[in-house]
Amino acid sequence: MSTGVVFDVQRYALHDGPGIRTTVFLKGCPLRCLWCHNPEGQLGDPELVVRPERCLAECRACLSACPEKAIRKKAGRVRVDAGACRSCGACAEVCPTGALELAGRRISAADAVAEAARDAVFFEESGGGVTFSGGEPLAQPEFLEEMLKACRDRGLATAVDTCGYVPYEILERIEPLTDLFLYDLKVMDAAKHLKLTGADNALILDNIKRLVRSGARVVVRIPVVPGVNDDEDNIVRTAAFLKSLDSPPPVRLLLYHRLGCVKSRRLLRGRVGRVFPFQTAADMERVRRRYASLGLEVDKGD
Ligand code: SF4
Ligand code: SF4
Repeated sequence: MSTGVVFDVQRYALHDGPGIRTTVFLKGCPLRCLWCHNPEGQLGDPELVVRPERCLAECRACLSACPEKAIRKKAGRVRVDAGACRSCGACAEVCPTGALELAGRRISAADAVAEAARDAVFFEESGGGVTFSGGEPLAQPEFLEEMLKACRDRGLATAVDTCGYVPYEILERIEPLTDLFLYDLKVMDAAKHLKLTGADNALILDNIKRLVRSGARVVVRIPVVPGVNDDEDNIVRTAAFLKSLDSPPPVRLLLYHRLGCVKSRRLLRGRVGRVFPFQTAADMERVRRRYASLGLEVDKGD
């Protein structure tokens, strides 16, 4: 029985594939996108998250719980020494307010699927299912494979939300077990992609080509980040690339938001990423129309 690290399970998700879904978020990602919406999912291991504003002045429960003596109080608020913390989670277990929380828990594939399957009745009625996201779910391939098999055994539809930056052999292995791939594309220019995500996009583009050719059902998701990938050059190049595939997949545009920046401030390892401007509904509509005018089937999320 394989186990893996999951940092969230969100029920009644409406934007991670068709129908009502439960989304299971797996830890670990090979990319470091500067606009990352889930920075607590980047590292593979559980990680302490600190919200000092929730700390109770009169409480000292975590100080005695910490085996590393990594915690002190200053001006009535908790302070954690990042160099001493081992992310064991002992403090989070005793914290009454959620000021200390562990992002990530180790769980068996069977238990994760049993948790996701609680809403199976809604999946049936809405054409939904279970989506595996992250982080990057393919960064834990054995765990993911076992969860997909368990879903299939229970008759649950599945989707895998991937950045595509993995050896193709992994995609090939899970493709027969997956009903839908939500495949993220960010920026077409290779140098810009490297600068913004920490990785070149050649593997990502090659993988989607092969995945579409294999007959897999794919929806491309593009996070529209102002000043990053909403310009004419990137839109035209992305559309040309998608139309060059054996069967151009539909495109769903995702709205950039700043929740990732807020979450990033709570990480013990310090802030990651950058703040980008908000886009308006009119900006998103302009991008959607432009993709549509280039012959793609495209819609936009909320
Ligand atoms: S997670 Fe870190 S701060 Fe909390 S008890 Fe463990 S070592 Fe101490
Ligand atoms: S256990 Fe929670 S509320 Fe109590 S001192 Fe520690 S962080 Fe603050």
